[in-house]
Amino acid sequence: MNDSVKYTLPEDRIPRAWYNIVADLPTPPEPVLHPGTKQPVGPDDLAPLFPMALIGQEVTTDREVEIPGPVRDVYKLWRPSPLVRARRLEKALDTPARIYFKYEGVSPAGSHKPNTAVAQAFYNKEAGVSKLSTETGAGQWGSSLAFAGALFGLEVKVYMVRVSFDQKPYRRALMNVYGATCVPSPSTETNAGRSILEKDPDSPGSLGIAISEAVEVAATNPDINYSLGSVLNHVLLHQTVIGIEALEQLDQTGDYPDIVIGCAGGGSNFAGLAFPFIGKKIKENLPTRVIAVEPAACPTLTRGVYAYDFGDTAMLTPLVKMHTLGAGFIPPGFHAGGLRYHGMSSLVSQLKETGLIEAAAVHQIGCFEAGVAFARAEGILPAPESTHAVRVAFEEALKCKEEGVSRTILFNLSGHGHFDMGAYDDYFAGKLEDRDYDEAALAASLAALPQVAAE
Ligand SMILES: *Cc1c(COP(=O)(O)O)cnc(C)c1O
Repeated sequence: MNDSVKYTLPEDRIPRAWYNIVADLPTPPEPVLHPGTKQPVGPDDLAPLFPMALIGQEVTTDREVEIPGPVRDVYKLWRPSPLVRARRLEKALDTPARIYFKYEGVSPAGSHKPNTAVAQAFYNKEAGVSKLSTETGAGQWGSSLAFAGALFGLEVKVYMVRVSFDQKPYRRALMNVYGATCVPSPSTETNAGRSILEKDPDSPGSLGIAISEAVEVAATNPDINYSLGSVLNHVLLHQTVIGIEALEQLDQTGDYPDIVIGCAGGGSNFAGLAFPFIGKKIKENLPTRVIAVEPAACPTLTRGVYAYDFGDTAMLTPLVKMHTLGAGFIPPGFHAGGLRYHGMSSLVSQLKETGLIEAAAVHQIGCFEAGVAFARAEGILPAPESTHAVRVAFEEALKCKEEGVSRTILFNLSGHGHFDMGAYDDYFAGKLEDRDYDEAALAASLAALPQVAAE
C-alpha cells in the first residue's frame, strides 16, 4: 500500500453546473466601477468587450450555473481530471500527513486554463463574435485560448509580454499550431503600446500593458471581443469544475481535507479548487484551512493593499476592489510568469479580508526544490507556478511530522512544466535568486492608486 493511488471518475460525472460562491458569501461582493464616472458599471458598459452571457455570469447570485452541453463535450477530452493520493511523496517526506493533489496538467494546453477558455470561446461564438483578443504572460493563457478558438472556429489574437515572447518561443509556437496570431507587447499596433514604446523603446512589457493593448483592440473593433484568463468572477466560476470533481473523488477515499492549497496569480486555479470547499466550510461550519500561495517577489495578498484599482497599465479597464500592488507595478524577474500580476481576483481578495482564507508568500528557490522533489517522487514535473502550492504542501506535511499528527492536505497541481525547462535549467545551474519586492517601489506604485470616494 505504499504506491500512489489515482482516483478517476467516468465522463458522465463531469459536473453539470459550475458553483458560484457569491450565493454563500456573508456579504455581497464590491461593485466594479466605471473608470471615468467611478459609478458601478452596468451591462452596457461591458458589452463592447464581452458577450451578454458572460456579463450575466460576472454578476449573478445564483448558486449554480449550468454548463452548456458543447462545453461539457470539449471538457470530455481531458475531464474529469485525476485526483491522486501522493503516497510516494508522503513516504519521501516521511510524514504522517495524507497528501492529495488534483492534476490539471492533463488538459491539451497543460494547465487549468482551458476550463475557462473553452467556456469563453463557446459563449462568444454563440453571440456571433468571430475574433477574440487577449494578453498572455508566460503563454499558458494564450495557448489555452488558441486551443479553444481552434475548436469553436474563432480567430484569436494574443499580445504576449515581450520578455516572455523572447524567452518562451515554444509557447508561442503552440499558439501558432492552434492557428492564433501572437505579437510581442508593447506593440506598435495600439495607442497603449505605442505610448509605452515612445518612453521606453526597450520595454520588457508587463501583463498590465498587454491587457491595455488587448482591451483597446476589442473596444475599438465591433467584431472583436476581449477575453481574460483569470481574475474576473466568470473565470473563477468556470474553474470550479476542479473543486466539484475533487469533492466527489474524495468521497471515494473516505478522507476530507483539513488544508486546501493553491498557488495564486490572479486567483483562478486557487478558486477553482477551493471555492466548493469554502462553500461547504461556510454552510457546515467546518474548520478547513484554505491557503493561497503567492511569490514573495509579487506579494499581492500578503503585502498589497485592499483598494479599488485598474486591471491594466493604461487605465482602460473598470476599477475593481482587490488586493493590489498598484497598476504601475512591474515585478522583478522570477520564474513563474503566471504569478506576475499586480492585482488579485476581487472574490479571493474579499475572502482574505473576511478571514475565510489565509495567504502565504514563498521564494522561488524553495519552490523549485519542492518541484524537483515532487517530480522524483510522483513523476510529474510541476509548472513553476504550481511549485508554489507544492512548497506549502511540503511545509504543512513537515509540520504534521514535527507535531506527530496526521492531517489531510489537498493541493492543486495547476499545470505541468514541460514548456518551462529553461527555468529548471537555471535552477540546476544555481542562477536563480530569491528577491523580495522592493519596499520603496511598492510605496511609489501604491501612491498612484486611483482616488475613489468611500461609500
Ligand atoms: C496561469 C497559471 C497560474 C496562475 O493563474 P491563476 O489565475 O492564479 O490560477 C497558475 N498555474 C498555472 C499552471 C498557470 O498556467
